[in-house]
Amino acid sequence: MNEALLSRVRGQPASSPCSHSWISPVFPAPRFPPDSPVARLRVMSQHASTSPHRIGLGTDRHRLEPGLPLVLAGVTIPSEIGAVGHSDADVVFHSLADALLGAVGEGDIGELFPDTDPRYQGLDSRRIVEEALRRVQLRGFQAENVDIVIELERPKLLPHRPAMRTSIAALLGVEESCVGVKAKTGEGLGPVGEGKMIAATAVVLLVGVLAVGEENTK
Ligand SMILES: [Zn+2]
Repeated sequence: MNEALLSRVRGQPASSPCSHSWISPVFPAPRFPPDSPVARLRVMSQHASTSPHRIGLGTDRHRLEPGLPLVLAGVTIPSEIGAVGHSDADVVFHSLADALLGAVGEGDIGELFPDTDPRYQGLDSRRIVEEALRRVQLRGFQAENVDIVIELERPKLLPHRPAMRTSIAALLGVEESCVGVKAKTGEGLGPVGEGKMIAATAVVLLVGVLAVGEENTK
């Protein structure tokens, strides 16, 4: 996250309990010279004609094989089987990144990080989410809350849910109460139920923070 940019709007009114910790009555809204780039930014929820909210949906799935690491939301889960992928095959971060990108019309992670590019082999998928967040921010939005469903037959993910929520909340810059992580089995049915596949679905809500000035459109 671009903390410098976020800190510039500290003090703007919160739109919901899931709005961000940088909104604080302790810090008054800063003042800027009229000709500064920041002065040309404005609070979308107060002035923009477009909706201050966007919703994004992302899904992902990977094949499972013995002897590979199982990484979910950046957390390595003890498991005899892991996901096959060009990157670290983190279905949580992949679905989350696609949800973020979709909410602002920025395509998908397959375009940004093609699995044919050797530069992304073994990539920490945290980098993918960070790039998605950068694009969200450039469009004048920020994640407000996210809900993620993981489909996996085994191992059981409940003991690891707190660590996954902590990881996602830290990455998005939201409170953990704004991060939902649920795990479902395949009830023995289909590729998930047979232990051959892991899948995830993410829904994210974005809130408009700024109307983007010329300087932020590159
Ligand atoms: Zn993936």
